[in-house]
Order: sequence, then structure tokens, then C-alpha cells
Amino acid sequence: MVCHDEVIYPHEDNRVVIRLQDIFKKFSIGLDAQENKSDAYGSNKPRKKYVVLTFDDGPSRCLYQILDILAHYNVPALFFWLGKYIHPQRPWKRVLDEGHLIGSHSWKHRDLTKLSYQEQLADLQLSKDKVEEITGVPITYFRPPFGRYNTDTLLAVETLNMIPMLWHVSTHDWLNRHHPKKISENGIRYSEDGSILLCHELQQTTKALPELIEGLLDKDVQFVLPPIYPRSSRQGASL
Ligand SMILES: [Zn+2]
Repeated sequence: MVCHDEVIYPHEDNRVVIRLQDIFKKFSIGLDAQENKSDAYGSNKPRKKYVVLTFDDGPSRCLYQILDILAHYNVPALFFWLGKYIHPQRPWKRVLDEGHLIGSHSWKHRDLTKLSYQEQLADLQLSKDKVEEITGVPITYFRPPFGRYNTDTLLAVETLNMIPMLWHVSTHDWLNRHHPKKISENGIRYSEDGSILLCHELQQTTKALPELIEGLLDKDVQFVLPPIYPRSSRQGASL
């Protein structure tokens, strides 16, 4: 991971800022297995750099626009949703039908480090159960709000059989409400092979997204999703 003051998440904890290659390895899946998927231009040319595109804080009213753009480019994404915002009317089915993943981002975005272990566990359990109850699909990945966590958080995540995931590159989209160009530039410039890229379900992000995706495709990036636990497994791979 290359450090950069502006866009790289500063925490060096490998339990959370885990390399994409290592996630695939834990599931005994090679990243190369992704190579045969066709890219946005319809070719089967192998791509050299793998990037995971993630969107936090949804489901929001921007979700339809984001899904339309992702569908246009045939790009998959991982959505970290807040349990409080999910209800059966949200387009979770479209998200899953179009090949995306849903992860958990807690119940209502509290700073988990200010909560006791039992409070954290209850929050994570509630949000995980809500998504799984509505979608019928087990949650594999959890991202702590603000990227803030402590050892209690990691224990709660492990207890609930989820994998913590932060990010390597931030688009800083929440800081660039009026500068979508800056959002796409952040993502394009600092993404490298194995990067997990942080975006949010925000209006300015929808404006930046086409340029961001096109810029990364021009850098020979292939967008991939991390492996997930199978529906029947309660244990899955251990990290
Ligand atoms: Zn968030």
C-alpha cells in the first residue's frame, strides 16, 4: 500500500485494511479466476489491476442513478448499508439481481468506539439480521462507520461471522460536493492493483462516477467483488 497524506486511510492495521489478494487467498480463490469476465468494452482481454468499488451510507435516494451508471459500464460494486435505512421497498433486489453485493455499515452510523462491547455487538447483530431478513442473503463484509473501530469491534465482527473491510483509497466525495472532477481524480490517481475504493451514495458521486469508471478502465483496471460466504455456511473462511 502506498501512503499518501490526502487519500490513503492512515491506519495500518492489517486485520481491517486487508489486501484484496489476501481476501481471495483466504477463500482459496485466485484473483486470476476473475480474468475471464468480459469488461465494459465487451472484450475478454485479461486486466492487470483489480479494484473493488464500494459505496457507503445507503441505501439513499441516489441509488437508482448509481445502479444505472454501474449497469451502463457493466461494473459490480459493494454497498455498505445502514440497517436503519433498509426496508422491503428499497431496491435491494435490483442491487442483487445486477450482480452487486450488500455489506453492513452498522445500524445508524454511530461511532462504535464510544460503545461497550455488548452495545457494539447488539448494533451489529441488529443491522446484520435486518439485511439478511429482507434479502435472504448472508452478510459477509462489515465496514465500521467513520472507519473507527477498536478491539471490541473486531471481536463483535468476528462473533457475527463477518469480515471487517475498510478501504485503501478514498475519493473524498463527501468533501467535494461542488467538485465532482476532484472526486474522480482522487479515485483514478491513487488506485492501484488490489485497491478497495471508497465512495458514498451521494449526488456529487453520481456526477463523478462515469469519469471515475472510465478513467480506471483506461488504466487497465478490472472491477471485481470479494468472495462471499455461501448461503448454507455459518462459518465460512476464517481471517
Ligand atoms: Zn459511513
